[in-house]
Amino acid sequence: MPARTGSELIQALRESPIELWHRGRKVEDLTTEEGIAGGVRSLAARYDLQHRESEKLLFPSPDTGDPVGMSFMIPETREDLVRVGDAMHRLADFSFGMAGRDPSYLNRAMSAYAAAAGWLDSAHPGGGANARAWHREMRERDLALTHTLINPQINRAVSAAKQADPFLAARVKKETDAGLVIKGARMLATLPISDSIMVFPSTLLKNPEEDAPYSFAFCLPNATEGLKFICRETVDYGRSHFDHPLGSRFEELDALVVFDDVFVPWENVFLYRDVKACNEAYAATSAVVHMSHQVICKNIAKTEFLLGLVSLMIDAVGIEIFQHVQEKVAEIWINLETMKAFRRAAEADAALNEHGMMTPAFDPLDAARNLYPRLYPRMVEIVRLLGASGLVAMPTEADLKGPLGEEVHRYYQSARLEAKDRIPLYRLAWDTALSAFAARQVQYETYFFGDPVRMACAIFHSKDRTRYMERVREFLRDSAEEH
Ligand SMILES: Cc1cc2nc3c(=O)[nH]c(=O)nc-3n(C[C@H](O)[C@H](O)[C@H](O)COP(=O)(O)OP(=O)(O)OC[C@H]3O[C@@H](n4cnc5c(N)ncnc54)[C@H](O)[C@@H]3O)c2cc1C
Repeated sequence: MPARTGSELIQALRESPIELWHRGRKVEDLTTEEGIAGGVRSLAARYDLQHRESEKLLFPSPDTGDPVGMSFMIPETREDLVRVGDAMHRLADFSFGMAGRDPSYLNRAMSAYAAAAGWLDSAHPGGGANARAWHREMRERDLALTHTLINPQINRAVSAAKQADPFLAARVKKETDAGLVIKGARMLATLPISDSIMVFPSTLLKNPEEDAPYSFAFCLPNATEGLKFICRETVDYGRSHFDHPLGSRFEELDALVVFDDVFVPWENVFLYRDVKACNEAYAATSAVVHMSHQVICKNIAKTEFLLGLVSLMIDAVGIEIFQHVQEKVAEIWINLETMKAFRRAAEADAALNEHGMMTPAFDPLDAARNLYPRLYPRMVEIVRLLGASGLVAMPTEADLKGPLGEEVHRYYQSARLEAKDRIPLYRLAWDTALSAFAARQVQYETYFFGDPVRMACAIFHSKDRTRYMERVREFLRDSAEEH
């Protein structure tokens, strides 16, 4: 089965039920469950989109020649890398970047791991072949994945091995000829409404040697026995698209993942017990670079949306004449151009990595992924500042169509829009800036790649600043000689 359709995704989720818990109840069918099904439908629509725009979103499978998702490509040229980026931008456009965990994010990670099979094999014999096989399976079946990299937030002052109970964080309980048995938990997994899960080391945090039993990388179907997803409460209020334009469509959910003696066959394991290799995995394979490439494409789509939204809002109520309003719109435009420039720089300076995969330059992407967590909350603040009471005053679809309809039409009109057009616009702004969906988006953008403080520290420690220091030293030396 090459590139999937939406109905094939829904059928797969029904045929392989996941143990998903929501509000204290095991969800029987997540494709129909209120508060969850809306996100599933949007994910399905995203799979249909790739057939409507196949030229941009699909490419021929290197194995079968059948059309498969562009984000599974292991590009060897810069042109192909840009095609992957364009496809990811288009897929992000579909949700205005609000479905942060479009499957292309982890497709890029597995593509990089598959390309780096030789490196994996040297760290874990057979791990590379396993990664290649998983990548092929994901590509040919067009699977959607979730992933979990972090241990539960219990005691952050000590490592996983030193928690009050050794099986709080997911850990190897038993090793057999056939595979591993895992017990404990991981936090967090966005998009548990998917086919499979990557249980990998952190992209950022480094494990100490004592954490060897917690150090592994493997994939599993979400419907594996003993694997449980405990979801946070949905931010889809169960309302119409009119009332809740984003939350009713793009709720991807986040879940804590419990491994209740979960069996992992060896053929699913890519890394095991090699703490050093686990700590180096994302950098050594370039997976983090390709994931960051997806993220910047998504963030460009999200910023384009914010620029369009804010421009329509100020036009609606005639506030575009005020200078501070113009300045705020300019701020979003500058952010957009900054992100586009980072993407272009990363693609222009792309080079083949040591595994033969055309890989974007990391520095511009690293700068972008550290900057956006600061830009996004500020842009949401701009929506709030410019929307003011308009964000909290909007009536529902029922009010517009109800007995007070005439008054609603009269008092919710704006300088340039009738109420029937102004209300949906401002409800969209509310769902971008004030609703529970909006708040979770801000938390997502702040944290999903890692703690911004420790990400900044990683920059501090890894980026070479010596030539800039030398330039300043030289100036000081020259100045001293001039005297
Ligand atoms: C919406 C959302 C979606 C996510 N989706 C995923 C996902 O799909 N997969 C996944 O694997 N992860 C996901 N994450 C988790 C994400 O990787 C973590 O939030 C991030 O790594 C930070 O870890 P933490 O949340 O455990 O915070 P903690 O590490 O517990 O930090 C809490 C606070 O303590 C401070 N702190 C803790 N330890 C230290 C330290 N050693 N040094 C300095 N300061 C410290 C932090 O700065 C922070 O202020 C998601 C997170 C969010 C919010």
